[in-house]
Amino acid sequence: MKPEAAVVGAGPAGILAATVISEGGFTTKVYEEHPVIGEPNHCAGLLSVTGLGKLGIDLSDEFIQNRVYGGRVYSPDGEFIEIRDRKPRAYVVDRGRFDRYLADAASDAGVEFMLSSRVDRLRFMEGTCMGFTVDGDVHTPWIVVDSEGAGGRLLSRSGIETGQSGILTGYNTEIGGVEVDPELVEVWFGDEFAESFYAWVIPIDESTVRCGLGTAGGGGIDRLKGFVRRRFGASKLRGVTAGQVCTGPPVDRAAYSGLLLAGDVAGQVKATTGGGVVMGGLCARLAGETAVDALGCGDICWGRLSEYERRWRGLYGRELRTMYTARRLLNRMTDERFNGLLAGLMEADLQGVLGDLVSRGDMDLQAGVIREAVRNPRLLYVLLRGVGVAALGELVSLLR
Ligand SMILES: Cc1cc2nc3c(=O)[nH]c(=O)nc-3n(C[C@H](O)[C@H](O)[C@H](O)COP(=O)(O)OP(=O)(O)OC[C@H]3O[C@@H](n4cnc5c(N)ncnc54)[C@H](O)[C@@H]3O)c2cc1C
Repeated sequence: MKPEAAVVGAGPAGILAATVISEGGFTTKVYEEHPVIGEPNHCAGLLSVTGLGKLGIDLSDEFIQNRVYGGRVYSPDGEFIEIRDRKPRAYVVDRGRFDRYLADAASDAGVEFMLSSRVDRLRFMEGTCMGFTVDGDVHTPWIVVDSEGAGGRLLSRSGIETGQSGILTGYNTEIGGVEVDPELVEVWFGDEFAESFYAWVIPIDESTVRCGLGTAGGGGIDRLKGFVRRRFGASKLRGVTAGQVCTGPPVDRAAYSGLLLAGDVAGQVKATTGGGVVMGGLCARLAGETAVDALGCGDICWGRLSEYERRWRGLYGRELRTMYTARRLLNRMTDERFNGLLAGLMEADLQGVLGDLVSRGDMDLQAGVIREAVRNPRLLYVLLRGVGVAALGELVSLLR
């Protein structure tokens, strides 16, 4: 039977959009190019406690590997500030298992998964998406949700350029036999390892970590080796995976007649960290709701589907833009400035103030924390010295 809705990509965004549509009473198929959902897994798997709550995802030991309470932020010269909360702030998850857990719930809701099915091209007629081809076969659902992930290669092959920018390559590996605080993640800044981004250490337990970095420069695997050598004194890496990380702004357009974009492909990602599971998932649920409304009225024209644009931009557009401006500001910071900023924060004894801000803030909606930070006169003074008036002014203007 012809599905009423088709979703491209069985990542979290695609699965969540499909679940909402199927629960809304419409037949829904998800097309995934890989034979196994969640594989290959290239994600660091750090998801906020509040984010999973907002997505309404039940917690399960099937995918949760650890709980973290805070983190250490390192400057390029190896100094760090530590922030630790009394309650868990984030879960470390096995992303492959997480995606399969979501897919099982989607199947229970009636979603059908078409695995090893790569969508070749979307088909348009007079500006309306009329379906797509898989291995040359034409499929004609009423509505398509494209959740193909970062970069929008399918869209590009189909003649739509989203103009998505700020895509980096991220590398990840797991290392055992180390000693870490299992409650804290580590974030390391510095151009040597992670140009225009950062390196991370995410504890799975006290002796195993997931370790990785994103970089705008080349030679990512060598950089990761260098980072692991510096942090753990080891240089052999087993099983490095790589994937695309979005650090740019959201795309200008995420709704077309017959077609909605959700997740990384729409730039619905925290540009500060590249984390897109929660934000993309929240937007994907809105895409699903809009699809249900449109299918219910039998109207899949842009006029009706633009309701999706209105809703996701209204709820998260400003957040995403603020995080993108913060990312640009971070990208302009030299190693020297980072060292100076961290030293300034420690000199002024602001760790407690920062800890308090972060514990009251939201890991996914970071504009609130940024706003409070620039309203604190002591923090503002250190930030102005470390970041510069012009750069900080740009951020402040967005927060008004
Ligand atoms: C190294 C690294 C670490 C990361 N760490 C984190 C983290 O700790 N926390 C976090 O929140 N985010 C993290 N991210 C980002 C996170 O992985 C993405 O934001 C998230 O996966 C986006 O979900 P999505 O559903 O939009 O796309 P994806 O998860 O990329 O899923 C897209 C799916 O579509 C499929 N597909 C693509 N094209 C086609 C086609 N033509 N036909 C059929 N199927 C197709 C792909 O195979 C894929 O399965 C990380 C990313 C990287 C690279």
